[in-house]
Parts: sequence; structure tokens; C-alpha cells
Amino acid sequence: MSGRVIIHIDMDCFYAAIEERENPDLRGKPVAVGGSSPRSVLTTANYLARESGCRSAMPVFQARRLCPELVIVPVRFDLYREVSRTIRGVFRRFTERIEPLSLDEAYLDISHWRSDAAAVAREIRAQIREETELAASAGIAPNKMLAKIASDWNKPDGQYRIREEDIPAFMPPLPVGRLWGVGPKFRERLAAAGVHTCGDLQRLDRVELARRFGRWGLELWELCRGIDHREVVSDRIRKSLSCERTFRENLSDPEDLLKRLRDMVDEIAADATAHHPDRRIRSRVVKLKFDDFRRTTAERAGGEIEMPVYEELLREALARADGRAVRLLGAGVRFADPDGGRQLEFFGG
Ligand SMILES: [Mg+2]
Repeated sequence: MSGRVIIHIDMDCFYAAIEERENPDLRGKPVAVGGSSPRSVLTTANYLARESGCRSAMPVFQARRLCPELVIVPVRFDLYREVSRTIRGVFRRFTERIEPLSLDEAYLDISHWRSDAAAVAREIRAQIREETELAASAGIAPNKMLAKIASDWNKPDGQYRIREEDIPAFMPPLPVGRLWGVGPKFRERLAAAGVHTCGDLQRLDRVELARRFGRWGLELWELCRGIDHREVVSDRIRKSLSCERTFRENLSDPEDLLKRLRDMVDEIAADATAHHPDRRIRSRVVKLKFDDFRRTTAERAGGEIEMPVYEELLREALARADGRAVRLLGAGVRFADPDGGRQLEFFGG
């Protein structure tokens, strides 16, 4: 049908696995990466910690209650980023079409490969293991949604392939919560309507789905049949990253604006680190829209997301306010153009 071959690679307990690699004393112990104060949360837990019920996003005090011997090590983003870069380097030997979802997860479009897709996935995982000593799981499928479901199937350190011809048998028993975009809230809503599996959903026709769930219902009609047309969007296309807030009441106090700006800059920094670790930042930008709907932008060249620079940019932009209040505040970065014409490298020639 589509002829596409998508691989979803997902590193196993990525941050915790890196910490175990760096510190052999941690091996064989329940380990989590996270903040140290009782009010902070776990970022990742290894499998031993998960056996005790520890999960990412769980507050530290709760994790400690479930697993008193849990070793919590502080987050070291620079290190994870570096490992992620190495893994990205492995991906590039196989395809240019890479869509990272986070530091440890990415979609790869390998439709151009003639060799067996499962063998390609095995080779990618072997090269990751060789270069990082870390385990990766892979899902292989004709589209992104199914590839992501599949990478979870034989985790950890495994892979699973869903072929076009497997889809009609694979989908009906699948719980609806596995579908792309179906979160816990929506799952409850579906359960209340007696819909638990994709098979249950398949029994509702398009008209019924649209009546109950609007446009999203039409998408569901496709998703529950394993149809997903979303392309693998290479990260290299994105030119900028930004965050904007429109205020319910216009702001004119610089301190208020500065406070908002701080949160936004934190958000951009986290997003850039997690989703675009390979991109070089060309400049930092602050944007204002005044109460007369006119805009102004202040921009400074440079590669770091630093609060003092954003503070200066805000001051610079506010100097043009001329008595007007601020309706919208935006902060962001522009990325440098990724180097064009990079040669495709294929393993084994
Ligand atoms: Mg992972």
C-alpha cells in the first residue's frame, strides 16, 4: 500500500542506563535519575526500580516510600545530550530522514533501503550498543504510530516488526490507549462508551465517530485500523523555536514581564535540549505586541540560551513601548542552517 518503512528507536531507561554505565557501583541496584529534594520528581527509573513501582514523573518522596533502597542520582543533561549526539550519528549512517522525539527516541524513515528492515534495525541497535554500551529497542512498521507501538513490544533490548499484512490481525485486540493521541482522559471517555479495544472502535462507522468525537472521530476511524499518514519530519527543517503568551490583561510593569519571560526562557531551554540537541542556535529573540496591536522584535546573535541576554532584549523592546502596555510576550531562538549537502553514509558500503 504505502510502501513506507519506519523504524522507531527508543533507548531503554536512557538516563538511568547512562548513569549505570558511568558508575559500575550502581549496577544491580534500583536506580533513578531525578531531583534530590523530596518535592522533586523522578526523570527516569531503571528496571529494578520499576519493579518496585517507581515511575518517571513520580515525586521523590513517593518513590522512596515504595523503594527505600532506591539510589537517586542527579540529572546530568550535558552528558545525556552528548550520548544522544553519538546515537544521532549512528542514525545518520542509515538515513537523513530522522525525526527526534526526545534525547532518546526518534523516528527513522528507511523506505529507501532494499535490505530486510528487521536486519537494518538490528544493525542500528548493534552500532548503538557498540558505541555507547547502551541498549535500544526498535519498532518497525509501515507508519509512525505502529512503529512506536512496536518498539514497546519486546522492550528492553528487543525489536518487533508489524508488516502491512499483519495490521488487520494486530489492531482489533489492541487497547485504545495505545493509539496515537489517545490519553488517559479520552480513554476514560471511550471506556464509558463501552470502547476498550481498537476492535470496539472499528465497529463504529465514520458518521457515528464524527457525531460523537467531531473531526478527531474521523482520525480515530483511521488510527484504529492502523492507518497513519504522518510523515517523518526531519528536525533539520525547523528554523526556530519560540514560546508566546497573550495576557488576559495587558501588562506594563517590567518586573511582571520579566517574571513571565523567565518561565518562557526555561521552557525554550528545556525544549531545545530535549528535542533539538543537534541544532546550533544562531540568535536569541524577544517579541512584544503592544495594546495597539503593533509588534516589535529585539534580537541578538549568539548560541546560548542565557537569561541575562533575554533580559536585555526585553529592556530594548520595552524602550519602544512609548506608554503602550504589552498584550503579548514572545521569546525564542533562531537555529543556524544545518550544513547542507551532507553525504549519506551507508554502513558496509
Ligand atoms: Mg526510552
